[in-house]
Amino acid sequence: MKTDYLIVGSGLSALVFGALMAKAGQKVVILEAHEHPGGFGHTFTMANKYTFNAQLHYVWDCGEGAIVNRVLKTLNLDRKVTFERYDPNGFDRMKIPGYELKIPADFEKLNRRLSALFSESSDRIDKFILEVQKTRKGLKILSYPVNIFDLIKHFNEVFCAVKYLNSTLQDVFDRFQLPQAAQTLLALQWPDFMLPPDRVSFYAWVILFTGYVEGAFYPTHHFKDVINSLVKVIEENGGKVVLNCEVTEFMLEKKTVTGVKAIDKTNNLTVEYQGENIVCNLDPQKAAQMIGLENFAPKIRSKLNYDYSPSNFMAYCVVKDLDLEKYGFGKWNTFHSGDKDLNRAFERMYEGQDYSNPSFAITTPTLLTKERGTCPEDCQIIEFLTVANYDHFQRLHQSNRKAYRQKKNEILNYILDRVEKNYIPNLRKHIVFKITGSPTTNERFCWCPQGNSYGSNLTPRNMGIGRLDHQTSLKNFYFCNASSGYPGFAPTFWTGARLYQILSGDEILSK
Ligand SMILES: Cc1cc2nc3c(=O)[nH]c(=O)nc-3n(C[C@H](O)[C@H](O)[C@H](O)COP(=O)(O)OP(=O)(O)OC[C@H]3O[C@@H](n4cnc5c(N)ncnc54)[C@H](O)[C@@H]3O)c2cc1C
Repeated sequence: MKTDYLIVGSGLSALVFGALMAKAGQKVVILEAHEHPGGFGHTFTMANKYTFNAQLHYVWDCGEGAIVNRVLKTLNLDRKVTFERYDPNGFDRMKIPGYELKIPADFEKLNRRLSALFSESSDRIDKFILEVQKTRKGLKILSYPVNIFDLIKHFNEVFCAVKYLNSTLQDVFDRFQLPQAAQTLLALQWPDFMLPPDRVSFYAWVILFTGYVEGAFYPTHHFKDVINSLVKVIEENGGKVVLNCEVTEFMLEKKTVTGVKAIDKTNNLTVEYQGENIVCNLDPQKAAQMIGLENFAPKIRSKLNYDYSPSNFMAYCVVKDLDLEKYGFGKWNTFHSGDKDLNRAFERMYEGQDYSNPSFAITTPTLLTKERGTCPEDCQIIEFLTVANYDHFQRLHQSNRKAYRQKKNEILNYILDRVEKNYIPNLRKHIVFKITGSPTTNERFCWCPQGNSYGSNLTPRNMGIGRLDHQTSLKNFYFCNASSGYPGFAPTFWTGARLYQILSGDEILSK
């Protein structure tokens, strides 16, 4: 039997879209290649007792009335899926040689803190922060669905945003002549983009930075519960999420995608699924190559011609008999750089494979919610994240597994050296479990081409007017993925909800 919506991939945007459609009475089937649903947001368990989320750390737009909350309300999940607020006095804590800064959930406070650190530049800091807020307002008005009255009313903000269409964060830092150390403290969330200031789009930085200032959150029952709750809505409304089912071919008849061929890895069978509509959550460029690029309209081909976001290195560690709170960790993330110039630090790690003076993020998920269940009572989880080069790791993985493992250990050891020196002496003695992920791990478990972290690279080129959306130029076939919307937990909620609104006419985003 043909399903109404056949969805390939169970990443967040797909689950949100699928749950909304299933709740609205449509028949939904999701095919997922992995054994766990959620894509980058999936959760895995090691040694039968340690549970880690693959990539998600903290999220924004989850407060009352914000996009995540509105979607959850529509799904009657808002009382079940709740969030804990990060510390508003410092949700991200930055440390570079000679400086420390807590980023507060309040722009005025941020301004005061930066001005106290860089008193001779306080005027410029003030103007920069105002420009960031103005740009954010302009971008909100320009985002789907555009309201013409708002556009006229807030012409100044819209004009402000439009002028940065092709700018990197570095361009704007230079324009406002911020001191180097102030730039570094403001851009130290670079692992959230996997790009340094001279590569990341100003738009991408503004959206994420202001999103977290407005409220940084962690799910009360961990990310696994969010994913499972969305899956449950689909199943309770007659839909299905089929795991271990890798789609190998899209079936095309006269510019209409009618179904897919897949490998049912549980039973080692080739299976076929058909749908009235096919929704593609796997990377759009990869899907288009599977279908044949020549079948897409030139305009879509040009939008599909994006480069991928750099990949990453993750270390998931469990510590025993150590209270991380006593060492300055809590309801916040820590970002550390040994080099005050992030462009140079990034270049050295990403292009030069040199991690001897690393820049990285530290997260402590067990301190973010009282709910346990991710590790035994006497343990806590600490994770480290930085950039990694796909080509380098792929070569090592293919040619020399020992060297591949050594490189992963080398990166972790450089990070642990820094952490022991600056935060937790003897940390290594307390680590009872550790596992590291590389670009090839991402590729293997998240099925993302080149192990990319955020889909299409978050540079001005990909964040501009030519950005891909849900449209494919093929009939009944739609993209629904970070690269055809925006990456991140809240942005993928928005991506799934936008496609639902367009196809169902239910104005969930306009209410
Ligand atoms: C290191 C890292 C840290 C991050 N941290 C954060 C954070 O702190 N906060 C935040 O908001 N965001 C974060 N993100 C971003 C966020 O996780 C992603 O943007 C988001 O989860 C992407 O969702 P998606 O809908 O695009 O689908 P994806 O997660 O890309 O899922 C696609 C799915 O399709 C499946 N698939 C692919 N090919 C096939 C096939 N042939 N057949 C069947 N299934 C297939 C895959 O297995 C996968 O499940 C992070 C990402 C990374 C990499």
